Amino acid sequence: MKKIAILGGGESGVGAAILAKDKGYEVFLSDCGTVAPRYAAMLDAENIEWEHGTHTLDRILDADTIVKSPGIPPTVPVVKSAIERGIPVVSEIEFAARFTDSRMVCITGSNGKTTTTLLTYHILRSAGVDAGLAGNVGKSLALQVSREPHAVYVIELSSFQLDNMYDFKADIAVIMNITPDHLDRYEYKMENYVSSKFRILQNMTSVDSFIYWNDDPVVTGRLASVDTPVLRLPFAEHPEAGVAAYLECDELVVNTPATSFRMPRAELSLPGLHNLYNSMAAALSASLLGVEAASIRKSLGDFPGVEHRLEFAGNVDGVRYINDSKATNVNSTWYALESMTGSDTILILGGKDKGNDYSEIAPLVAEKVKAIVCMGVDNTKLLEFFTGKVAEIYDTHSLDEAIATCHSIARRGDTVLLSPCCASFDLFHSYEERGTLFKQKVRDLSGNQALS
Ligand code: ADP
Repeated sequence: MKKIAILGGGESGVGAAILAKDKGYEVFLSDCGTVAPRYAAMLDAENIEWEHGTHTLDRILDADTIVKSPGIPPTVPVVKSAIERGIPVVSEIEFAARFTDSRMVCITGSNGKTTTTLLTYHILRSAGVDAGLAGNVGKSLALQVSREPHAVYVIELSSFQLDNMYDFKADIAVIMNITPDHLDRYEYKMENYVSSKFRILQNMTSVDSFIYWNDDPVVTGRLASVDTPVLRLPFAEHPEAGVAAYLECDELVVNTPATSFRMPRAELSLPGLHNLYNSMAAALSASLLGVEAASIRKSLGDFPGVEHRLEFAGNVDGVRYINDSKATNVNSTWYALESMTGSDTILILGGKDKGNDYSEIAPLVAEKVKAIVCMGVDNTKLLEFFTGKVAEIYDTHSLDEAIATCHSIARRGDTVLLSPCCASFDLFHSYEERGTLFKQKVRDLSGNQALS
């Protein structure tokens, strides 16, 4: 019997374990942290052997294949030992794809992955396509392949997942953009990170399609040196030769071999330039999968949006509060600011700085921001950079303090935008917690009336 070891007992690992068991493997799952009770119960119900709090090396290194959770770096001793012994280390997506012929729409990029993935899924499901949601959002691909198969999967792929994908082939691959991120996992070399993203194209053939942002010099620069037979469907802000989706006279234009349509930009449910790109990419994918123009248009107009991404959090005394807690890097805050109208934004910035260069957002801050409220354990870098570049700047060290400051300085018509540019780990467990608490505080401010 073939032996498989699974490293990591979260959504992807537990799904991979169940698929492997169903396919007749001898399965052992190991997590050096804690396996959540819900996943422990799933493993027990399937009689899958597992451990947590440790890695029993002998047992793991006895496997023929190792499935590694994307969160585990390749440098940890157990993975290094496996590689030294020549044991294949693959991602859950790679493993799951061995057992399905369903069509795969795979979405990667530094920013916009989740939004584009959920929007694409929304368009497909609304059109009656039997689609599953997998990767970084949704349920494990492996679990769905084994227990709840779908004709099409829409998969959000991080570079960490792509790093352990080899024979996998996407039918439709999407690269939203590539800006510096996670460089600590790539020897601080941008070219390594770009190579990781471009793994999404491997094994694709002339019947497959590649959707990408044509205005991104990093993407087009690398593409110039990539030899791939795929059909290219770039999208861009302005009409250009060969571009499959663009904006013309404030209308979104989409042109693929399958469909052509236009719709007023104002009818898109998601605001901002970045979401125009996300809408283009999702529309192109859906069009290639045969969804009719009218159906795509309707879904682009009624998509409810994604939590913690430019999410309306409430209106208190005529001040709008927006939760963009997912903006954990400078580029995503750039797009959040870009989508603000007027010059009355109060911007909450700060958290764990990942080596940020704030000069990218300085012009937009000058144009649109009336005050910056720094919120972090240590705001020194922000204070040094922005003092003198904005009319008012405040130093706060908790969410309560930040919200109270915003409330006291905001005037009717202003917008308070939480778009921190930084990871959340100094004051919160996650960006989700930061965003959820922010919304709670906004509700508290208005005596629980903000969302009513
Ligand atoms: P990801 O899954 O890649 O992290 P999300 O869809 O969760 O992306 O969006 C994260 C943040 O990135 C959002 O809060 C938004 O400010 C910004 N963003 C979303 N789409 C794009 C895009 N196409 N280009 C640049 N920034 C974007």
